[in-house]
Amino acid sequence: MTAAPPFLFEADDECFRAGLRAWLAAELPRVAGARLGTADLHGLEFRKAWEDHLCRSGLSGLGWPRDHGGHALSLTRQAIFHEECARAGTPLAVNMIGHGIVAPTLIAFGSEAQKARFLPPILDNSEVWCQGYSEPGAGSDLAALSTRAERRGEVYVVNGQKIWTSFANLADWCLLLARTGAGASPRAGISVLLVDMRLKGVTVRPIRQITGEADYNEVFLDDVEVPADCLLGEQDAGWKIAMAAANYERSTYFVPRIVRMQAEMEALVALAAGTVREGQRMLDDPAVRSAITDLSLNIHALRLYADSILEMAEQGVPPGVDGSSVKLLWSENHQRLMEVAIDILGPQAALGPQESSAVAEGRWNRDFLWTRAETILAGTSEVHRNIIAERGLGLPR
Ligand SMILES: Cc1cc2nc3c(=O)[nH]c(=O)nc-3n(C[C@H](O)[C@H](O)[C@H](O)COP(=O)(O)OP(=O)(O)OC[C@H]3O[C@@H](n4cnc5c(N)ncnc54)[C@H](O)[C@@H]3O)c2cc1C
Repeated sequence: MTAAPPFLFEADDECFRAGLRAWLAAELPRVAGARLGTADLHGLEFRKAWEDHLCRSGLSGLGWPRDHGGHALSLTRQAIFHEECARAGTPLAVNMIGHGIVAPTLIAFGSEAQKARFLPPILDNSEVWCQGYSEPGAGSDLAALSTRAERRGEVYVVNGQKIWTSFANLADWCLLLARTGAGASPRAGISVLLVDMRLKGVTVRPIRQITGEADYNEVFLDDVEVPADCLLGEQDAGWKIAMAAANYERSTYFVPRIVRMQAEMEALVALAAGTVREGQRMLDDPAVRSAITDLSLNIHALRLYADSILEMAEQGVPPGVDGSSVKLLWSENHQRLMEVAIDILGPQAALGPQESSAVAEGRWNRDFLWTRAETILAGTSEVHRNIIAERGLGLPR
């Protein structure tokens, strides 16, 4: 890893932003240009290559403490970083679970030996992580999980099945939840294991999605022998760790997603202006204008809302119920944006990235299909509505 670029040490947030913006404007075309014609810039290969480049350039561990090799940047600075990356159109990360969830969890709950073993390869991106929580019978009700880990001498013998495990096909390690005890309640008796994906008995089967891609997987665990020193925290006390892990990213998670949505909004207006049907620009169609106006207002309000959550988090107030509201508003407005794009495109919308005559290389088609997942991942809309109703509004269960 080289020394971090000088803008990282600017005292003023706006100088930091300007330095970062200039760095991205120079580096993204340079790194992409070196690969032009050989890789899909939205594909996993380039996503990993760009992430490696960021890490090699010292732009990783932004929020980690300095004694673990991080930069100890404030949440606001981290949000600016994600915002500028989104604005520059950088590809999404591949090791987002390693950087965003596993690293802060290790820093909070790991032994010194675990921190020394696992943090450096996340920092330099040489080890990719996945998160093995969901199972065929345990999604929203995660505490119903049935994968078992039985302690036998110096190993835990793990048996069970995980599903929807993002990046498991690329991952070196998995943050895995397994049942180790009977427990008085379903939440008791769950432990967190750090599982090497190359161990004997781990089988990964990619799941082909509606977009044709395979972002997530089934993971089968058959008599997998996980060394006992890969237990994170105490045995049977994993629920607390799993819940803490879910909270680490919440305050900054939606900033880049909303910034990307603002850029998509501009592209949507351009699409409506450039699409002519029956002699009329789609931007002059009253229904399209009304849908675009609604979306613009919603996205602007959502941005202000996400900023206020970040400001609170900077003062130590966790997002709580507001995190549920932002997740809900982001995912549902994003789906709506893609639906409007599909309406504008009309029959053209049927052409996906594989078709050479597709508008914008079929990205609208692909993104419309992908956004179906956004009201399911990170808690379904129904579950977030329950949280808002019960914890936010105090309605009865
Ligand atoms: C793109 C994507 C990536 C993912 N990546 C990962 C990953 O890396 N690791 C991982 O472990 N998991 C991952 N998941 C899984 C995700 O966490 C689960 O899909 C999610 O928790 C929902 O669980 P489920 O699919 O089992 O649905 P279920 O929980 O079975 O829900 C089915 C339906 O019932 C509704 N429902 C459930 N409970 C209630 C309730 N109490 N009140 C009202 N309605 C309810 C739900 O809203 C939903 O409509 C991913 C999912 C997606 C879509």
